[in-house]
Amino acid sequence: MARFAYHRPATVDEALGLLADLGPDAVPVAGATDVWVNLRSGKLAPRALVSLRAVPGLAGLDRSDDGLTLGACATHAAVEDDSWIAGRLPALHMACSQVGSRQVRNVGTVGGNLCNAAPSADAAVALLLYDAVCRVEGPGGGRDVPLDGFFLGPGRTALAPGEILTGIRVPVPRGRTVAGYHKLTRRKAMELPILGVGVRVTLDDGGAVSEARVALGVAGPTPVRCPGAEAALAGGPLTAERVEAAAETAAREARVRDSWRGQAWYRRHMIRVLIPRILLGC
Ligand SMILES: Cc1cc2nc3c(=O)[nH]c(=O)nc-3n(C[C@H](O)[C@H](O)[C@H](O)COP(=O)(O)OP(=O)(O)OC[C@H]3O[C@@H](n4cnc5c(N)ncnc54)[C@H](O)[C@@H]3O)c2cc1C
Repeated sequence: MARFAYHRPATVDEALGLLADLGPDAVPVAGATDVWVNLRSGKLAPRALVSLRAVPGLAGLDRSDDGLTLGACATHAAVEDDSWIAGRLPALHMACSQVGSRQVRNVGTVGGNLCNAAPSADAAVALLLYDAVCRVEGPGGGRDVPLDGFFLGPGRTALAPGEILTGIRVPVPRGRTVAGYHKLTRRKAMELPILGVGVRVTLDDGGAVSEARVALGVAGPTPVRCPGAEAALAGGPLTAERVEAAAETAAREARVRDSWRGQAWYRRHMIRVLIPRILLGC
């Protein structure tokens, strides 16, 4: 492994200053569960790592009636251990609780999961269900980026050079809402998903679906929402026929492919199976 300098800034401004001074050879790092794998394999050979872990406030969970603000360095374990999140944002809780192993969750962060931009990122699929918004800070100031527009491709995000993710705003859905996330794997831990499926529906007073979200992982180059499936669910009652139609639409929308973890036909089939199963489970 090539040698690199390790910086531990104490503020966001200091981190941004270091990234600006060191340029493209410096890499921001949080829990390093992805970064370390890439350093070991030689895929990544930075001159410097800029750790965000010592920056106060970046690891916090801020809960309010309107929603949750996750510091970018909040760990999956912090989400897993939070009963407020389990009650109000259950799909996020399910997703974070299934990342890797408890050891990985103790250091791996939700922000790192998003910035790594893997198609298999569990937390990313769940956060798409809740219309999460990323707070980004950079040399030119701060901006909000809806998560739906954050992923540009495998390993590519809307972060410009020198920018960092500082937080993720997750609104709590209003009204009668159910949501779930299913991670399809061969074993129960230490496994990336063959497929990740998330569904959220909110019902109006008459029992019709007023808002629907369907999101998939490992079904395209990035974690994605399925607008066709969402449209098939919204605007009517949550009947078996409508759920099956939505699942069929999602299976058609998915850009699944063959990989050593699973074949495209199997992933497509399991989208049809898991969307109704998640809603029944809710
Ligand atoms: C054994 C093992 C099992 C795993 N299992 C799973 C799994 O089941 N599901 C899953 O989704 N993932 C899994 N992962 C991947 C990884 O643990 C997660 O993606 C984790 O959330 C990454 O967080 P981190 O803090 O460690 O990120 P890091 O490794 O620190 O960073 C990841 C990337 O994001 C960038 N980055 C991090 N934070 C910021 C920030 N605030 N602003 C800008 N850029 C930033 C880094 O530069 C890097 O490119 C696994 C990894 C390992 C090693």
